[in-house]
Amino acid sequence: MANEHLALDATHDPQRLSWVESANSADTEFPIQNLPFGRFRAGAQEPWRIGVAIGNQVLDLQAAGLLDHGDMNRLMAAGPQTRRRLRQALSQGLTAGAPQAATWHDALLAMDSVELGLPCRIGDYTDFYVGIHHATAVGRLFRPDNPLLPNYRWVPIGYHGRASTVLASGTPFHRPRGQVKPAGDAPPALAPSSRLDLELELGIFIGTPNALGEPVPLAEAEDHVFGLALFNDWSARDFQAWEYQPLGPFLAKNFASTVSPWIVTLDALAPFRRAFERPAGDPQPLPYLDSAANQASGAFDIALEVVLQTATMRAAGQAGETISRSNYADAAYWTLAQLVTHHSVNGCALAAGDLLGTGTLSGPQPEQAGSLLELTGGGQRQIALANGEQRRFLEDGDAIALRGRCERAGFRSIGFGTCVATVLPARPL
Ligand code: CA
Repeated sequence: MANEHLALDATHDPQRLSWVESANSADTEFPIQNLPFGRFRAGAQEPWRIGVAIGNQVLDLQAAGLLDHGDMNRLMAAGPQTRRRLRQALSQGLTAGAPQAATWHDALLAMDSVELGLPCRIGDYTDFYVGIHHATAVGRLFRPDNPLLPNYRWVPIGYHGRASTVLASGTPFHRPRGQVKPAGDAPPALAPSSRLDLELELGIFIGTPNALGEPVPLAEAEDHVFGLALFNDWSARDFQAWEYQPLGPFLAKNFASTVSPWIVTLDALAPFRRAFERPAGDPQPLPYLDSAANQASGAFDIALEVVLQTATMRAAGQAGETISRSNYADAAYWTLAQLVTHHSVNGCALAAGDLLGTGTLSGPQPEQAGSLLELTGGGQRQIALANGEQRRFLEDGDAIALRGRCERAGFRSIGFGTCVATVLPARPL
């Protein structure tokens, strides 16, 4: 990968403060070192505009005179140099004492006063399966004798999902209906899912497109990535078990998937890179998926968290309860650069705004699992919640929030915001 991804510059300076006071608080996810991009509007009749999160505010890039359009996909397609120039201008102009404060002040909106939408138009959506601990644990439930299939360590496994049902954070969805097959000889029936689950994932947003027939070499792969967001690939495990063979995920997966509003750029993530290593004894990737740079710094240290708030907790005014914690760097068997290169190796064209889900990012320990399927041993055990409730799978009224945060000594911590949605009852037939 190109060296500029590794470059730390003044935009990462932990001493840099902003004239937007809320960006300087210790617990903000959006200090001046982050500067993630998203889309917002001030009313349902208004067009989407491009904004950058700073503290508890959103800076309107057009109103600030930094862009002459509000088309996020166009900005994403413009490539990493444009994005980095914009980041430099934003960082300088938002720095405490900068003269831009006088004019940009009028381009700020309180984040809680605007609607945050999908961060871009998502043309295509692919979901990968890079979480090797997840793949092994789930494989054990579905195939006890053969948990991890032999292709797993050689080829990044994925499938094509549907962009039409990727939802903005905060959008509730109804429990899906589908075919459920009881055990034994009983025939399948159409029913609301009784094994509704979450999947803790990251979403990789493509920026620079590649032309049809032109694979993206590993050394250039990160130049095609705009940034990352949190992603929950809601899953109906009962539908999945019945339908998944021989062609893989289908209706168990495409009733709802939730993405967080802010895309954290690879530039903001530069301080949080980590070496990418395979366990001793595992095969090394094929040459087109391997490089010294990918091994040296292809992984990202992103702490992840799953928070469950039941309807009972909400009614009692209680915050949600953390049911799992993991880390992207500990969970993923393939880097995002490898995913882009593999996805395009056959000539497949990736477009600006395409979304690649990583797959469920379960950590190596059982309590670090990114799905209820794993946390409950396939629904065999209940999770005990602090208020006395229990869960095997999600119930109506449950809200799941995903969080992500990067921390490293000597750097300002940055966050991803929230990816949240509430399960509504199945629609009446
Ligand atoms: Ca998934």
